[in-house]
Amino acid sequence: MATRLDPSALLGVAFAFGAIVGSFANVCIYRIPRKRENQAELGLKDEEILPEGHSVAKPRSFCPSCRAGIAWYDNVPLLSYAFLNGRCRACKASIPFRYPFVEFLTGTLFALCAWRFLPDLPRTLVAMGVSVALVIITFIDLDFRIIPDGLSLGGTAVAVLLSGLMPALHLRAWPILAPEASSRTEALTASLAGAVVGAGSIYAMHALGMLYLRVKARLKGTAWDPTQEVVGGGDLKFMAAVGGLMGWQAAVLVFFIAPVFGATAGLVRMLVSRDPYIAYGPFLALAAFLVMLWRNDILVWFGTGLGRVPAA
Ligand SMILES: [Zn+2]
Repeated sequence: MATRLDPSALLGVAFAFGAIVGSFANVCIYRIPRKRENQAELGLKDEEILPEGHSVAKPRSFCPSCRAGIAWYDNVPLLSYAFLNGRCRACKASIPFRYPFVEFLTGTLFALCAWRFLPDLPRTLVAMGVSVALVIITFIDLDFRIIPDGLSLGGTAVAVLLSGLMPALHLRAWPILAPEASSRTEALTASLAGAVVGAGSIYAMHALGMLYLRVKARLKGTAWDPTQEVVGGGDLKFMAAVGGLMGWQAAVLVFFIAPVFGATAGLVRMLVSRDPYIAYGPFLALAAFLVMLWRNDILVWFGTGLGRVPAA
């Protein structure tokens, strides 16, 4: 006879699982960008580059200050940080607060995924996988203002593949509030349409920004630099992955929701510092997470406003 787990216990399990995966996310955030081929672009110092043969899988975690290996009992998510008082056991260098924060954040996102999608286990696991990718992208973009191709383009490829395996990830490509896709062909169409709309929306934003700069330069009679980036190419590829996974409707929602967060943070930043530049990836990631969990609700909310019949 099957026993039913208490739902709050399940959320606790999801949180703990997320904290462990978050610990791995910390490794990815640190190691993925610190490759020799990125040295010039990211301005890495020699000692910041990961030694030959190191990857996200090996060797096991080490202290970035003294490079001493970290034993498993000093690597328990959240708990070890508290137990070690935020310091490396070997050299006593302080461990950035970001490490337990990323573990806590990933745990929280996993619990939200479980709460939203269980008992649909495959869908929950996909949502968790996407969540950890969003966390990694967010912090690499905050550190270096890049989104690595392995995550954005790799993510797009995985998104199309998953769409073929799990058609229920997608709404039908048309009309806007059509029920969820039931066939592989429908889902793949929705996925490709999503990738094109996701990338296209960022490209359109870039083109408009360039036009604005060009007109402004002409009115002022100054030269304009056609090579400057209004929106990063990384954001474009990232949005292809978001659309590929969640469909074009979701890509449109993310495109319009992310600037709300971005503008708010940008205003705060302008008040505290003179550097107006903010990494845009984290806002796209935040919007993508919200849309992943509540795409249908948001669409129904808009749809009801438009007098349309809500989707299932
Ligand atoms: Zn150390």
